[in-house]
Amino acid sequence: MSFLYDIHTHDFPEEPGTAVVQLTPTAYCTYPGHAYSVSLHPWDIEDDWRVQMAKVAVIAMQPHVLAIGEAGLDKKKSPVPMEVQMEVFREHVKLSEMLHKPLIVHCVKAVDELLAIRKEMGVKHPWVLHGYRGGPEQAEQLRKQGIYVSLGLDYNTDTLLDMPFKYLLLESDTYGDVNVLYKLVSEDMEADEQSVRSLVAKNIVAFLKSHDDASFE
Ligand SMILES: [Zn+2]
Repeated sequence: MSFLYDIHTHDFPEEPGTAVVQLTPTAYCTYPGHAYSVSLHPWDIEDDWRVQMAKVAVIAMQPHVLAIGEAGLDKKKSPVPMEVQMEVFREHVKLSEMLHKPLIVHCVKAVDELLAIRKEMGVKHPWVLHGYRGGPEQAEQLRKQGIYVSLGLDYNTDTLLDMPFKYLLLESDTYGDVNVLYKLVSEDMEADEQSVRSLVAKNIVAFLKSHDDASFE
């Protein structure tokens, strides 16, 4: 656990256990040694989403599944009506709270709805909004409400430099090389790459444990 450098990816890392690998509801078997998250992505919601969610719930109970997600709301790329996306997202929130596993959030142009659901469901545990490309002001506003952000290759440099160290989280997602990301981030921070790696790995573990000891708040 202590060497998790990548909080969200859709690819298997060369070295098992260094990244949280995203699973879909059809991931019946998983490779040992890896860390996982599981969800029904808002792009993949189908009419029988309750069946899809039942599969997600079964996979989510496995011990090597450390987080729920990426789950969320997408007004741009998902053809699914927002009410349905919100209902499916609420199911992920329930799963996260019930299993004490933190939630990785996908959110495109639906921050108000996201905050409304968080409030309505009385969630206290931190969430992480992945692939954040916005500015430092919004990141701070989200942070104040318990939603942290993780940065991928297209991060906003001001956001990176403004962010308190203890909240820095990095991800390769679908297209990124995490080693390239660490190089860029270290250069921008004018910091030694190994120190940035240690810092982020520590932060990722703190986030993943946040349901147990509130260490990320
Ligand atoms: Zn992703």
